[in-house]
Parts: sequence; C-alpha cells; structure tokens
Amino acid sequence: MTNLLEVKNLKKHFPLKSDTLFSREKPVLKAVDGISFAIKPGETLGLVGESGCGKSTAGRVLLKLLEPTDGEIFFKGENITNYKGEQLRKLRREMQLIFQDPYASLNPRKTIEQTITEPMKIFNMDKHERTKKLNRLLDVVGLSSYHKQRYPHEFSGGQRQRIGIARSLALEPELVICDEPVSALDVSIQAQVINLMEDLQDEFDLTYMFIAHDLSVVHHISDRVAVMYLGNLVEIGDADELYANPTHPYTQALLSAIPEARPENTKQRIILSGDLPSPANPPTGCKFHTRCPYAEEICRMETPELKTVSTNGQQSACHFVKEVVEEEV
Ligand code: SF4
Repeated sequence: MTNLLEVKNLKKHFPLKSDTLFSREKPVLKAVDGISFAIKPGETLGLVGESGCGKSTAGRVLLKLLEPTDGEIFFKGENITNYKGEQLRKLRREMQLIFQDPYASLNPRKTIEQTITEPMKIFNMDKHERTKKLNRLLDVVGLSSYHKQRYPHEFSGGQRQRIGIARSLALEPELVICDEPVSALDVSIQAQVINLMEDLQDEFDLTYMFIAHDLSVVHHISDRVAVMYLGNLVEIGDADELYANPTHPYTQALLSAIPEARPENTKQRIILSGDLPSPANPPTGCKFHTRCPYAEEICRMETPELKTVSTNGQQSACHFVKEVVEEEV
C-alpha cells in the first residue's frame, strides 16, 4: 500500500537572538531536528513525548502552517514541501487539524453554524450543500440541529471539542492531525471523544496522526506509535509490540510511568534524572545521554541512528539495541 504521508529528514529550526555581540554562530532552537516516517491510508500514527520535545511543531510543519527548515514532505506521492498560494489552498481541503484547546480554538462571536460552515464558504460550496453537510456533521458528532444558532460559551468542553471535530471534517479531509485533542478534557469525557474519533475514522476513511503525551490514550487509538525526544524520533513501531517490548531506554521510562489498572500488577517505575535539556543547546551524541541510566562513553560522542530492531519493523535509536537485518526472500 502506498503511503498517504511520507516525511524525510524534516527539520524546523527557529533562530534565536544572540546573547553576545560578537558570537560567530547564530543560536537556533532545533524544535524538529531530522525526523523521517510514513503513514499509510486509514492508519493512526501516535506521536508521543514530553512537553517541549517538538511533536506539536512537527504537526504544524506537516500541515504547512510553519515552513520547514529542511527535509521533504510527500502527500499522496506529491512533494508538497514548497507548496504555496493556490496549491497550498487546495491542500488544506485534504489535511486538517484538531486543536488541543476546545475553548481557545472556537471564535466566541460566531455561532456553531458559522464556525462549521466557514471552511465550506471559503471553498465556494453553495448554501443548500452547506446546510446538508452541516446537519450531517452535527449528527455524526452527537450534536443536534437546534445547536446551530448557539455560541461556544453555551457548550461544555466535550461538546466544544465535538464542534472542533465537525469543523475539521467540513471539507472531507483525508488526513487529520490531532494535536492533544483530549488532554484539556475531563477524564470522563476523554473516552467519549476518543470513541467518537474512532467511529468517524471508519465512517469517513480518515487517517490520523495523533499527537499526545498520555501514553494510555495513544496506545488505545494508534496502530503504530513514534516516540520523540528533543526533536528526534527515538523509537517507532507497531503499537502493541512497542508497548509490550520497548527497546529504547526513553520509551521504557515513559511506559514505566503508566499507572497499572490492576493494583496486583506491580512494575518498577524508571525515574529519569533531570529535566528535558534545552533544544537550543542539545547534548552531543545521543541527546538522551544526560538522563539515560545506561549511558556509556560512546553515547556522548556518537549519535545513534534509527535502525530496525524487530522482524516486524520496529525501529530504535540506541547504540546498545541489536539491529535485525531482514533476509532477502
Ligand atoms: Fe542511552 Fe546510550 Fe542508548 Fe542513548 S545510545 S539511549 S544514552 S544507552
């Protein structure tokens, strides 16, 4: 199956102000520092990592809301890295974003009808078509047509996120990038919104990139999971396999922090020392070496590449995880 989205060595660096007048090198914040992955049609790829690891920036670069510093983005086989103007406008139909904050992402002065039909108007859909589509979208996200003339403040957090989801589906996109879509919601509401997103994926043939820091939620919804640390992917693979057998020490530490549903299932929590280093001044070699319990001298000197570490394609970027070489058939 061909990939819907493919990313090759994608980078997003932000220039910073130099703190010394005569410094030779201009300081940069390396939010995304060379990531490569692909998403197949209908798949959900979860992207996890601590706050500040660059996952939300990566999502915004993929949607071309931010220009990449380097690397290439392919959508349905087309190189969209340098799309601008009309090409970019057409692309917006096919790639949409669900925002984290359902309070801030809706315009308080617009009714729900105005909010959801706005993208349709931009693409010159006629009134009859807009009304038909609005009614269907409200229905599929679990709202009623009498909600149309209400304003965002009249809804709960879960309902607002449903409105945000309806808006993101207004143009029938193929790829939806979900940036922490449930982290601002109460735990009791999170499951409802996740279930809704799974139903919508089946109904509209959607492909998701699901960005989150809650690993339980990501496991539930994702087919594959990518783990990000300081702008790089450190592990990627099938969700069930990666959660059952994490090979990278950072993934192991993240997974050890997930609370067990059954108290009798005890596991040892791996506590990482220190905070996430600054992406403006990342450690040399393996960027995780300052916090890794297994770091050795080579980790300070050499950057580990992502390599295949299981027969079903799991990849890990650690010097001490053994590479599996696929035999040619
Ligand atoms: Fe830890 Fe070294 Fe592996 Fe990095 S390369 S994860 S520092 S053991």
